[in-house]
Amino acid sequence: MHIITSPMALKDLVTQWHQQGERIGLTPTMGALHDGHLALIRALTGKASRKIVTLFVNPTQFNNAEDFHLYPRQHEADIALLQKTGEVDALYIPHKENMYPQGFSTKIFVSQFDTMLCGADRPGHFEGVATVVTKLFLQTQADIAAFGEKDYQQLCLIRRLVKDLNIPVEILAVPTQREADGLALSSRNRRLTPEQRRQATQLPAALHACLIDLRHQHPLLEALARCRTTLENAGFVVHYLDLRKEETLEIAEKAEPHTRLFVAASLGNIRLIDNMPVF
Ligand code: AMP
Repeated sequence: MHIITSPMALKDLVTQWHQQGERIGLTPTMGALHDGHLALIRALTGKASRKIVTLFVNPTQFNNAEDFHLYPRQHEADIALLQKTGEVDALYIPHKENMYPQGFSTKIFVSQFDTMLCGADRPGHFEGVATVVTKLFLQTQADIAAFGEKDYQQLCLIRRLVKDLNIPVEILAVPTQREADGLALSSRNRRLTPEQRRQATQLPAALHACLIDLRHQHPLLEALARCRTTLENAGFVVHYLDLRKEETLEIAEKAEPHTRLFVAASLGNIRLIDNMPVF
């Protein structure tokens, strides 16, 4: 596995690969890797002949300095894990100065998805995501890139972005990977105390119960209210809990195919997100 930190070295490598007719698959990450990330890498098997993983804790997508500071960083362990999979051809760990040279002033703003759901209480977050992902697409010259449904809004935004800007990369969506008790894998889970980790199980459990209500035609607002109360009683502060249409993320009036439940809720200062399709 090549470990690359400079954009020039990356450019040389991907140019050579493309000249050899290889198809490049990209998995962008912020590190602290877990099985969710590995599922993305695996999903590219058969769809890409060379796999690049990027590891960059992108400062511009953190709207909260403490969250950025506390974000888990464990490069050595990440490198060892990727090496062990034997599936990754190159790991790109750019320096901040290469991603954001002095005077950096360009931002990509995907208006359709920027201010709803997580965008509402994380101002600037999705601009940071859209900008860094565009840079990673350009730097890696990826033909296909894998993103997790765990961050569904991010997935929708990136699909929109590549369409709008004619970026020639295929987007591969990968289902959310979960712990045995249902909690979606997330690098942030490492920051939960043992007590919070126990409470966190209630998040997927409450969403699941709400889905069952909706499938049994319970009135939408009642089902959502019950779910919110369950979460609050379990100690969560609920930021949003919505039923939305999968493609546009508009609020859905009723549970039907291609609608999804979306939730963001915090335990202490740890914000967790999840989503599940109704059908
Ligand atoms: P992150 O390192 O958190 O920025 O995530 C990098 C990529 O991994 C994103 O496309 C995420 O959606 C994806 N990802 C993170 N957690 C999971 C999960 N539990 N299941 C599937 N994909 C995930």
